[in-house]
Amino acid sequence: MIIATTIEALQEAKESLKGSIGFVPTMGALHQGHLSLIQQARAENEHLIVSVFVNPTQFLEGEDLDAYPRREQADIKICELAGVDILFMPGIDVMYEKDELSIAAPAIRGYVLEGERRPGHFDGMLQVVMKLLNLSSADRAYFGKKDAQQLSLIDQMVKHYFMDVQIVPCEIVRDEKGLALSSRNVYLSEEEKERALSLSRALKTATRMVMAGELNCERLKTEMREVLAVTDEVEYVAIVDRSFGLLEEVEIGNTIILIAARVGKPRLIDNLWI
Ligand code: AMP
Repeated sequence: MIIATTIEALQEAKESLKGSIGFVPTMGALHQGHLSLIQQARAENEHLIVSVFVNPTQFLEGEDLDAYPRREQADIKICELAGVDILFMPGIDVMYEKDELSIAAPAIRGYVLEGERRPGHFDGMLQVVMKLLNLSSADRAYFGKKDAQQLSLIDQMVKHYFMDVQIVPCEIVRDEKGLALSSRNVYLSEEEKERALSLSRALKTATRMVMAGELNCERLKTEMREVLAVTDEVEYVAIVDRSFGLLEEVEIGNTIILIAARVGKPRLIDNLWI
């Protein structure tokens, strides 16, 4: 495995790759969720590039940029064992110059839900993903459904900017109790972890209700909020179509149910595609 920390080193390493390239961008502190993306990319491409970069432009003032978990040595080991060809770990100066042109998330899809709670977050995310996709020259890039709105915006960006890369959505990986894996879960105490399970429980409740024929979004959200009452704050429970338009009735095959809630310090997100 080649570890590249500069653009030049990455370009040079890429020259030895002949054949399809899969790419998995991450912010590191790798867990099974990341690993499932890495394994899928490994299986579907001749070559595999992973990036680890904690992107400052997608953190808002007062968010956990400085405290964001960093596990560089462990990340290197995991990538090595997973058969990664190139691990790209750039510093901030490698990725950004002063006074750059910017990319803005679309006004509607980019500024509801996560975008409303974290205004500007998606602008920074799209900016870095654009850079990373261009740098990787990937044929396919892998993103988790866990960040559903992010995935949807990246899809839109690739389409609108005619970028020549296939975006591959990957299933959410959970622990044995149902908690969606996240690098930020390390902030949770045991007691908080227990309460954090209410997110996946609320999604299960919604699944059961939909399977029993309940399609009314208000009624689904009311039941879900009851399950979520043990969290410290429910930021939103939303039921949207795949374009992130709000729904009144679940449309089977075109619906995402999303939750954001705070348990202790971290805000957690989870969702279900039905
Ligand atoms: P991050 O390091 O949090 O920026 O995540 C990097 C990629 O891994 C993103 O595409 C995430 O959606 C994906 N990811 C993070 N957690 C999970 C999970 N539990 N299951 C599936 N994908 C995930």
